[in-house]
Amino acid sequence: MEVDVAVIGAGVAGLTAAALLQRDGYRTLLLEAHDKAGGCAGYFFHKGYHFDAGATVLMGLDADGLHAQTFARLGAALPESALIRRVSAHLPDRTINIDHDQATWARERVERFARDAAEAERLRAFWRLIDRTADAMWAATAKLPALPLRGWRDIAANLRLVSPGFMSVAPYLFSTVGDALRRHRLQENAPLRAFLDGLLLITAQETAGRAPFLNGAAGLDIYRHGIRRARGGMKAFIKAHVEAFRALGGVLKLRHRVTRIAPQRGGGYLVETERGLIARAPRVVANLPIWNLPGLIEADLSARLARPLEKAGTGWGAFTLYLGVRAEVIPDDAPLNHQVLLRYNEPFEDGNSAFLSLSEPDDRASAPPGRRTLNISTHTEVDGWWRADPEAYAARRAEVAERLLTAAERVFPNLRDGIECQLPGTPVTFARYTGRARGMVGGLRTTLWNSNLFGIGARDAGLPNFWLVGDTVFPGQGTPACALSGINAWRDITGRWTLQSPPSREPAPDEQPSALNPAPPLARTAR
Ligand SMILES: Cc1cc2nc3c(=O)[nH]c(=O)nc-3n(C[C@H](O)[C@H](O)[C@H](O)COP(=O)(O)OP(=O)(O)OC[C@H]3O[C@@H](n4cnc5c(N)ncnc54)[C@H](O)[C@@H]3O)c2cc1C
Repeated sequence: MEVDVAVIGAGVAGLTAAALLQRDGYRTLLLEAHDKAGGCAGYFFHKGYHFDAGATVLMGLDADGLHAQTFARLGAALPESALIRRVSAHLPDRTINIDHDQATWARERVERFARDAAEAERLRAFWRLIDRTADAMWAATAKLPALPLRGWRDIAANLRLVSPGFMSVAPYLFSTVGDALRRHRLQENAPLRAFLDGLLLITAQETAGRAPFLNGAAGLDIYRHGIRRARGGMKAFIKAHVEAFRALGGVLKLRHRVTRIAPQRGGGYLVETERGLIARAPRVVANLPIWNLPGLIEADLSARLARPLEKAGTGWGAFTLYLGVRAEVIPDDAPLNHQVLLRYNEPFEDGNSAFLSLSEPDDRASAPPGRRTLNISTHTEVDGWWRADPEAYAARRAEVAERLLTAAERVFPNLRDGIECQLPGTPVTFARYTGRARGMVGGLRTTLWNSNLFGIGARDAGLPNFWLVGDTVFPGQGTPACALSGINAWRDITGRWTLQSPPSREPAPDEQPSALNPAPPLARTAR
C-alpha cells in the first residue's frame, strides 16, 4: 500500500493527526493494534455495560478548546456532552466541593483550608495566582504552542503566544507548585497539601514539590475551567473521531499491530503489521509512548533516544476497578466525579488516593436502565506487577481492589450492595490492551526538566519525516494535550500555522486515488 502518511496507533493523538492530515488532502493510513480505537481513552463492553477503559472526563470541547478546534476543521460534530458542575474531594477529615462557578469555588477553597484570618488572606493570594496563571496557560494553549523549540518554525509559532497575561506568568517558568506554597507560607497546611498533591497527581503525575508551577496551575484549575462527560462515555467521543476521519476518506485498519518500521534508502518508510500488511509512506507519525520506540524501528536510535528516555524515566501505572452498579446505591444528584484520600501521610498509590467517575443516571448508552457504571482508579508503580508470580499477582490485585472499594464507600456507603459486575485492570491489563511498555500510562511524571522548554519533542527520534505524538511528548497527558501533539505534527507536515487556515493542498499528480484511499477528500470537504 502506498500512502502519504502512515499513522501508527489510533489513540487520541494519532486520531487527531490522522484526521487533520486526511482533511488536508494527505492520503492517510491509520494502523491500530487493538480491535477498537481510543487507546487509554478507549472503551469496552462487558455484561451490558459500556465502560471507559481509562480517561473518563474530557476537556477541550468548549469554545476554543483543542478538540473543538479540531472537529471544526474536520467539519464534524462533537458528541453531546454534559458540563460537570461540581467535583468533590474527600479528605480523611473534610470534603471540599470544587465548583465550576468561580465565586462559589473561590469561597470554598479558602473556608475549607484556612486556620485563621491571616492564613485565609495568604490562601486567597495563592489561589489568585493559580487562577491568573491557569487563565494564561489556557489562552496560550488555544494558540497551539509548539515546544520544545527545535527550529525557527517553532520559535515563530510561539511568538503568537506572547501576551501581557502570558508575560506576567513567565517568571514562574522555572518554579514548582511547592515553591509557590512556600512563598505564601502554606507549605505546612497538611490538608491543603494533601488536596493539591492528589489533584496534581491526577493532572501532572507529580505532587506539588516537583510539579512545575505553570503546568500545575493549569492542572489545579481543570474543574473551574470546565470538564465534560460525553453522553455515552468515551465511546461516543472516539467514535465521532473515527467517523470524521473515515468520512474524509481516511483508512483505519484495526487489529493491525505494527511490528516493524524500516527507513528506506531513498527516503520514506516501510511499515509492516503482524498480519502482513506492508505500507510504504514518505512520512510516519507514531502515536506511541517513547518507551515503545526501541525495538520497533529498524535503525540504531540508541544514541538519539538516550536523552529523551532519560527524561521520560519510569511512568506511573494505573489500577482501575470497573463496576456496574444498581442505581439505587448512588443518589441521582451525586456529582459524577470524586477524589478520595483515605489516610494522610501515606503514599497516594495503590488505593490510598482514588478517582471516581460515574455515568449519568439517564445515560442508557453506558448502562442498562436502573444501572450505572462506576470507574475507580488509582496510581500504582508498574514494576511490581510484572515481577509477581501468578498467586502474588492475584492477591495484590484483590488487595488494591478492596482498598478502592473502601475508598468508594466513603462516598457511597451502600455501594457493595449494588455491585452487579466488577472487573479490575492492572498495568498488565493496560499493556495488553494499549500495547504500552510495561503498562506505563498517563504520560510522564511532569517535572521542570522534562516539560515545556525541556520536554520531549515530536522529532526527537531524529529520523527524517518521522513524528512522535501522544502523551509522552509535549505537552503531555490528557486528551487535549494529546490532541495538541497530533496538531503539532500536522502543522509540521502541512506547514500550516493554525487550525483556521484553509485546507488548500491539491493532490500532487503522483498522488492519484488508490484502492486504499479511493478519492482525495478535498473536493468533497473544502469549505
Ligand atoms: C486510568 C486512566 C484515567 C485517565 N483519565 C483521564 C481523563 O479523565 N481525562 C483525560 O483527559 N485523560 C485521562 N487519562 C490520560 C489519557 O487517557 C491519556 O493521556 C491519553 O488517552 C493518551 O493518548 P495517546 O494518544 O498518547 O496514546 P494511547 O492512548 O496510548 O494510544 C496509542 C494507541 O496505539 C496503539 N498501539 C500501540 N502499539 C501499537 C503498534 N505497535 N501498532 C499499532 N498500534 C499500536 C494502542 O493500541 C493505542 O490505541 C487517563 C489515563 C488513564 C490510564
